[in-house]
Amino acid sequence: MKPPRFRYYAPHSLEEALAVLAEMADEAKPLAGGQSLIPMLNMRLARPSLLIDLNGLHELSGIELDNGALVVRAMTRHRAVERSPLVAEHTPLLAEAIRWVGHLPIRTRGTVGGSVAHADPAAELPGVLMALDGTVQLTSRRGQRLVPAEDFFIDLLTTAAEPDELVTEVRFPSLPSRTGTAWLEVARRHGDYALVGVGAVVSLAEDFTTVTEARLSFIGVGGRPVRARLAEAALRGQPVAAETWRAAAATVRGEIDPAGDIHASAEYRRYVAGVLAERALALAAERAREGARQ
Ligand SMILES: Cc1cc2nc3c(=O)[nH]c(=O)nc-3n(C[C@H](O)[C@H](O)[C@H](O)COP(=O)(O)OP(=O)(O)OC[C@H]3O[C@@H](n4cnc5c(N)ncnc54)[C@H](O)[C@@H]3O)c2cc1C
Repeated sequence: MKPPRFRYYAPHSLEEALAVLAEMADEAKPLAGGQSLIPMLNMRLARPSLLIDLNGLHELSGIELDNGALVVRAMTRHRAVERSPLVAEHTPLLAEAIRWVGHLPIRTRGTVGGSVAHADPAAELPGVLMALDGTVQLTSRRGQRLVPAEDFFIDLLTTAAEPDELVTEVRFPSLPSRTGTAWLEVARRHGDYALVGVGAVVSLAEDFTTVTEARLSFIGVGGRPVRARLAEAALRGQPVAAETWRAAAATVRGEIDPAGDIHASAEYRRYVAGVLAERALALAAERAREGARQ
């Protein structure tokens, strides 16, 4: 199918983009990598009368460290994140998860800001942002604000961003020492959106025998990324042992409430979420130990 008619505008600066967006917020949509927006236009699921192309705004690209946090600007391509030594060193959970995003051509065009703004509940980036208690920077002509991931993702394709706001960067805070992370997921075919995915973060005590903090962030089990807060609380102070991960998996199955659809039943998603949680926690704990040995 072909998209409905729209006007196209390519601003030369962020300021220009924000000015146009402020005027036309109800009718306009920013165009980033186009990997989700263009299919939505073609299927007539979105009908903006104006597309504001962000691809010429080089100030919106780049990856850097700021006060210990990894900052990824909105127009940074998935592929740039995947290949960044800074991301691999500072935020390995992001480096691991991004490889699961679609196929290489999609990652070459798709952007970090686009993924976050699009807010697909099975997308990896929102799941990573939730796992790491990251924040989203929103910018409009009215100013700038930082929104914690927990408040940013509201529901299926729905975020806290106002129509005149652009996602301009996302921030991933640093993790304490003796912390390991792991991303695991199940999809029908390589490159498909996840049926279920999980990011685990495990911090260990000085003697490496006890969990001091754990986080579990799931994708594909709700309208937005879901933290398993009960399992996380139950893990605190537990020994580093297979039984601990198994017990956490049981808690996860009890606390999440996935829906069934044509791709997988709710029961299947619940079961798989437990299996992935158990494996991801064990792997993250192992990496916390290995990291400390290096
Ligand atoms: C076959 C296929 C498989 C895919 N598989 C996966 C997958 O497994 N995991 C995954 O996470 N993604 C997957 N994707 C989606 C891909 O990651 C997209 O790149 C991503 O969802 C959107 O990023 P984009 O830069 O292409 O944004 P666009 O498609 O350009 O925009 C998406 C939405 O975000 C808005 N937007 C974009 N940038 C901004 C901004 N800076 N501020 C405010 N709003 C903005 C747009 O207006 C639009 O509503 C897949 C896509 C395809 C086609």
